[in-house]
Amino acid sequence: MILKLHELKKPIHLSVTQKDEWFKDVLSKANLSVLDDFSLDLQLEKDKETVLVQGHVRGNIQMTCSRCAEPMTFLINEFFAPVFVHGQDPDTKDRGLHKSELDVTYFQGDEFSVAQMVQEQLLLSLPIQPLCSESCMGICQHCRKSLNEGKCECKEKIHFGPFHVLKDLKV
Ligand SMILES: [Zn+2]
Ligand SMILES: [Zn+2]
Repeated sequence: MILKLHELKKPIHLSVTQKDEWFKDVLSKANLSVLDDFSLDLQLEKDKETVLVQGHVRGNIQMTCSRCAEPMTFLINEFFAPVFVHGQDPDTKDRGLHKSELDVTYFQGDEFSVAQMVQEQLLLSLPIQPLCSESCMGICQHCRKSLNEGKCECKEKIHFGPFHVLKDLKV
């Protein structure tokens, strides 16, 4: 969905689920496999040269645990409010200035890609290291057994390594 800036006269409100063709396309481009009832609420409003966005995404997605590599579900429930300013990024002209705390993006031209913005917000809401559970034990680096299902025998072998022999030496 491409928005023409000069056509944005009244605020736009959008409420879609993963069944909507447009949103389905955004989700597949972001490489997300969503489960049922994944929804997006979006409001776009123009104030002079600024586009103010308010959005909310909610729903479960399928991910892979970064420790044990098992499939897991992750609930995205994210509010976002990025601001898009039409014009040149002042930072590129005036280096050394700190970017403000606001989530501001500068864009050129009359067109503004809503799909790209939503896609970026979705990716930002993902965990860097998804975990099926905080206490996930992961997999053994030696035998690849899932340690969530119980101990493997490698640990025993490591434990009864050279130090075990030293421990048993009679001094
Ligand atoms: Zn796990
Ligand atoms: Zn092992």
